[in-house]
Amino acid sequence: MEDETADKKEKSGCSEFGKCLEILNLMLDNEASKDQEKYLTSHIEKCIVCFQQYEVEKEIRVLIKTKIKNQPVPQDLASNIRSKVFEKA
Ligand SMILES: [Zn+2]
Repeated sequence: MEDETADKKEKSGCSEFGKCLEILNLMLDNEASKDQEKYLTSHIEKCIVCFQQYEVEKEIRVLIKTKIKNQPVPQDLASNIRSKVFEKA
């Protein structure tokens, strides 16, 4: 997992990634149900892919909120942040 060459594979290394991402976004928007919250919380303890994704999405929200006050947010901001974080990971 720490291997740099595994970086691309890691992104799709979770078989439930689509589902996790959906719940993750709900959770960060405070719209997830208790069951969904429980599922994701225990899932990211075991799944590094979703844990990283969770951290990234959290960061994106903070950054967007900060930026939005002063200037328009470029549409590709989120994907820029995502690729930066995954490069470092
Ligand atoms: Zn996962």
